[in-house]
Amino acid sequence: MVRVRFAPSPTGQLHIGGARTALFNYLFAKKHNGKFILRIEDTDVERSRAEWAEGIMRSLRWLGIEWDEGPDVGGDFGPYFQSQRKEIYLEYIQKLLEEGKAYYCFCTQEEIERERQIAREQKIPYKYSKKCRNIGLDEAKKRIKNGEKAVVRIKAPQEGVTIVHDIIRGDVEFSNDQLDDFIILKSDGNPTYNFVCVIDDYLMKISHVIRAEEHLSNTPKQLIIYDALNIQPPQFAHVPMILAPDRSKLSKRHGATSVEEFFENGYLKEAIVNYLLLLGWSPGKDRTIIGLDEAIEKFELEKVSKNAAIYDTNKLTWINGYYLKEIDIEDLYERMKYFYSKKGIEIERFDKEYVKSVLKLVREKVKTLVEVVDASVYFFDDNYEFEQKGVEKYLTADNLSIVKSLLHELRNLEPFTASKIENLVRKKAEELNIKAANIIHTIRVCISGRTVTPGLFEMMEVMGKDEVVKRIKKACD
Ligand code: GLU
Repeated sequence: MVRVRFAPSPTGQLHIGGARTALFNYLFAKKHNGKFILRIEDTDVERSRAEWAEGIMRSLRWLGIEWDEGPDVGGDFGPYFQSQRKEIYLEYIQKLLEEGKAYYCFCTQEEIERERQIAREQKIPYKYSKKCRNIGLDEAKKRIKNGEKAVVRIKAPQEGVTIVHDIIRGDVEFSNDQLDDFIILKSDGNPTYNFVCVIDDYLMKISHVIRAEEHLSNTPKQLIIYDALNIQPPQFAHVPMILAPDRSKLSKRHGATSVEEFFENGYLKEAIVNYLLLLGWSPGKDRTIIGLDEAIEKFELEKVSKNAAIYDTNKLTWINGYYLKEIDIEDLYERMKYFYSKKGIEIERFDKEYVKSVLKLVREKVKTLVEVVDASVYFFDDNYEFEQKGVEKYLTADNLSIVKSLLHELRNLEPFTASKIENLVRKKAEELNIKAANIIHTIRVCISGRTVTPGLFEMMEVMGKDEVVKRIKKACD
């Protein structure tokens, strides 16, 4: 049975890198009729916050990445918050101590610093001297009882190699003489990441660990823990890094990087999921658009690239524009409520069919939900501002008198459709021997205040006769 997990640390919003890892786990689970587990790695008390955990869960759910086991939904292998599993970890630490596979280390910060200093002077990588390896468990326990502080270290092998069999990268070899007797329990009584990760993956019966490449160097340490506990490790797959276009580490200066920010900036979940799919995986030659269901069918871990993926917001925005034109208009209406209300427009106050016609019109030219609002505010507010440039160029006395002379015919036009309006405007231009564009631009500025809008005739049809006439009259006065 395939069982995979996404194990975020709740120290911030869900980053696109994390979302991509979650998505690949999800696809793999769904493809193999397995289970996708969410585990919150909140052992770092200083940096973890319940709000971040909630935010991460909200973002995952918004993207449609639902978990089969985890917070909220429960499961047979909980609790799914590491902060609630401390007793379990301590039991296993105890077992390793008793079996002589781990030991208490009493070296002080100063002693360790002295060792580090010597390594620096000799220009060799630092490794703990293993000074406390031979302190017997009974003696160690006595010293602890007497109030001495200690950490617990694992006895790491000193010779040979540890090989990570990685589904994406093949075999990656780590020389054991590079490994240290690393700490598994800190002096404050908290176990370390590598240790708790192994225990949880084991107890939660995880079959495949699919995680970010930055964890590859942790994997040999985790394999040593598996070995010490005499348990079978899962299979590993480390997904490639995501770099900025200049190949530097992705950071704030590259713009939005969290799912929440993308939501606020008016991106659609379909577009984000589609874009994340392309970060390290490809559905086939030159394919850009792919939905979740097809991805589940086609996804193969073996086909994930070893090379870093380049994060390209232009591509994401292009994909967003694609989905914006594709999604059901009723659905778009629902999603737009939030974005309009952020700008103080309550679209529920307008006729729903009217709003939907506006959306149909403006979504053709923009790429995000925020841009939909910007491109359509004047449909919902007749107090729109006039662009200075438009006023100067088109609202001249001559142009206004021509437009005014059209009012009567506009009022009598039945039905008030784009093609009828167009005929009327073009006929008028011919009669007066002027360019139709002149009349078109002038009416555009009159009824929207802008020089750039969707096609004028369609826009007039959507706005409706009364509103158009009212606006032209107002602009002419
Ligand atoms: N909590 C780790 C992180 O947020 C995940 C480690 C893992 O997947 O093993 O990066």
